[in-house]
Amino acid sequence: MKSSLDPKCTMGEPSTWRFNKAVHSAYVLGLPIPEDQVLVEYVYVAEDGYSLHSKCRKLNFVPSKPSDVPDWSYAANFPVEDRFLKPAVIYKDPFRQGNHKLVLCEVYANDWTPAPRNFRHNCQDTMEKQEVTSVTPWFGLEQEYSIIDVSNRPLGWPSSFMPQPNTPIHHDAVGMHKAFGRDLYEAHLFACLYAGLNISGGNAEACPGQWEFQVGPSEGLKASDDLWMARYILHRLSEEFGVAVSFHPKLIPGGAGACGGHVNFSTSPMRQEGGINHIKAAMPLLARTHKQFLPLCDAHGGADNVSRLMGFFCTASVEFKWGIEDRDATIRIPRQVALEGKGFLEDRRPAANFDPYLVTDALVRVVVLGHETLQNPYAEPRVVKLAVDLSKVKLDD
Ligand code: ADP
Ligand code: MN
Ligand code: MN
Ligand code: MN
Repeated sequence: MKSSLDPKCTMGEPSTWRFNKAVHSAYVLGLPIPEDQVLVEYVYVAEDGYSLHSKCRKLNFVPSKPSDVPDWSYAANFPVEDRFLKPAVIYKDPFRQGNHKLVLCEVYANDWTPAPRNFRHNCQDTMEKQEVTSVTPWFGLEQEYSIIDVSNRPLGWPSSFMPQPNTPIHHDAVGMHKAFGRDLYEAHLFACLYAGLNISGGNAEACPGQWEFQVGPSEGLKASDDLWMARYILHRLSEEFGVAVSFHPKLIPGGAGACGGHVNFSTSPMRQEGGINHIKAAMPLLARTHKQFLPLCDAHGGADNVSRLMGFFCTASVEFKWGIEDRDATIRIPRQVALEGKGFLEDRRPAANFDPYLVTDALVRVVVLGHETLQNPYAEPRVVKLAVDLSKVKLDD
């Protein structure tokens, strides 16, 4: 059924297609705005621990550090429970540009305890420990993603009447018949550079419509902060292109196509001469915590990742195994690192919808602090106890 307002708009098409972007840009980027009038987009991870949400507030000055930006709140659990938003990191806004900002926020309950899916809070505690800062942990995070169209299919994926590819074939590929959705991938790299986050590269991935970008290496919290903001920017850009982005680790069931979130990790001893010995020394520590680590590798306590961890097509199985150059291993030592005798290790367990705060925190606990047990916060309910006692609320006046 066609809309009577716009002949181009058919049922099921994204609503943004109705708008003329040139007209939008005439206002958004075209109007002169006083320098001190700044739109701040508060970006936060919502109650479920993986959806990104944001809301806008105008300031009458240009904030230069997170504490310049006022705390705010949002309605988390209707109708009575709010969450506080605490600004944590400021980025330049690639959409509004000028002095406007994207501000990554932490979420707190209404008594200012960390919300159940605020994993940044604990990660910061871990990263600030003296034993941890003294080894300067670096993280390089790989984010694979799928671009999907309005029918929920990855771009370029063959129709159900055509043979399905059964091997990953499009890794690093170019060409109209192999790379689907490059405009979004490219725009994202540039938007991230503009925002000021440490994006370090990207590539076409193995399956049609699948892409990857990387952030880092960065110390401590920064790689995780940058990853969350890079994800936000990707979702915002997808609106511009009339597609959607999915971080689901196994969008297409079966043999092909899985989306991971590899975590590359090093400490200063690993990066120095002879560091390979420190890298190898981490393996038994990672092996003994492996079962407790798996539930931290996706947004549903490990459930999403089960069908991804098959042990072939460059994905680890659920059994712990480390190896040099082995992309079916749990932990991989890249060939270059083995040759140089120093560098970093790659944890290939996390799924694309992992929370980087949780995983980097756990890696540091296991490898640097020698922890033998890891808590699974996904086993806890994500809704905190109401601070408002409903029995004392008078409803009838
Ligand atoms: P691959 O796809 O071969 O696994 P990528 O090039 O996608 O590798 O990602 C490698 C990641 O490793 C990059 O994000 C890079 O920033 C990161 N990295 C490089 N050196 C280090 C290091 N010393 N410590 C931690 N991460 C590192
Ligand atoms: Mn990669
Ligand atoms: Mn990859
Ligand atoms: Mn990798």
